[in-house]
Amino acid sequence: MLKVEGLNAGYGAVNILWDVGFTLNDGEIVAILGSNGAGKTTMVRAITGMLKPSAGSVMFNGQELAKKSSRFILDSGIVQVPEGRQLFTDMTVLENLQMGAFSKETKANFQKNLERSYEWFPKLKERAKQAAGTLSGGEQQMVAVARALIGEPKLLILDEPSLGLAPNIVDDILEVAKTLARDTGISVLLVEQDLTKALSAADRGYVVENGRISLEGTSAELQANEHVKKAYLGI
Ligand code: ATP
Repeated sequence: MLKVEGLNAGYGAVNILWDVGFTLNDGEIVAILGSNGAGKTTMVRAITGMLKPSAGSVMFNGQELAKKSSRFILDSGIVQVPEGRQLFTDMTVLENLQMGAFSKETKANFQKNLERSYEWFPKLKERAKQAAGTLSGGEQQMVAVARALIGEPKLLILDEPSLGLAPNIVDDILEVAKTLARDTGISVLLVEQDLTKALSAADRGYVVENGRISLEGTSAELQANEHVKKAYLGI
């Protein structure tokens, strides 16, 4: 479904990503792993069109997306839950969820998708009329994921969902991601610095170091890898 090849991107004259390549199949959860500053968010930006890659290819369901606009990429079915969630904190939960319906189809399907989101995250139904900024961090992350789902993604990108959240809340969010992938065939790109959490949910993963993919494998292979154990799992 998604095939990234030879991706180079950076800021001004500074190149950050070097020949990044990876694949993601339908219904699969793939983790992009790495520590602070490794280039994970830059990778997400280059895929979603917020940053124009200087070289490389992003093929998604047979369509080249590299250098296309963010809107074009969104319309093709790639929806991102940004790092830090980026909710409209003064607006209610419901209003934030409405912002997820950006196309004619998703506007028409809003009520149905809203009900489905409330099934994924029952708490949000109780909090629908409350300002998003007054929710707990975990609840805000749920709003961000639900808002993305209302956009009917084929590929959902979760950028550091664990950031600042209690471990059990992260587990809840990753459980939803697993159910989504299994039951709806939505693919999930899970960008994380918490390798333990990410590998517990993902089918496969790629480790990013200094803007390059340094390792790849199934979650079991990465968990057993000596470098991963020493550098990221503290074993
Ligand atoms: P984090 O987990 O901290 O978000 P990351 O792996 O997502 O880390 P990036 O945010 O992609 O890392 O950053 C990779 C490199 O790009 C860093 O050296 C960072 O300083 C640099 N960088 C990020 N954003 C910009 C920007 N807007 N302008 C210049 N350099 C940037």
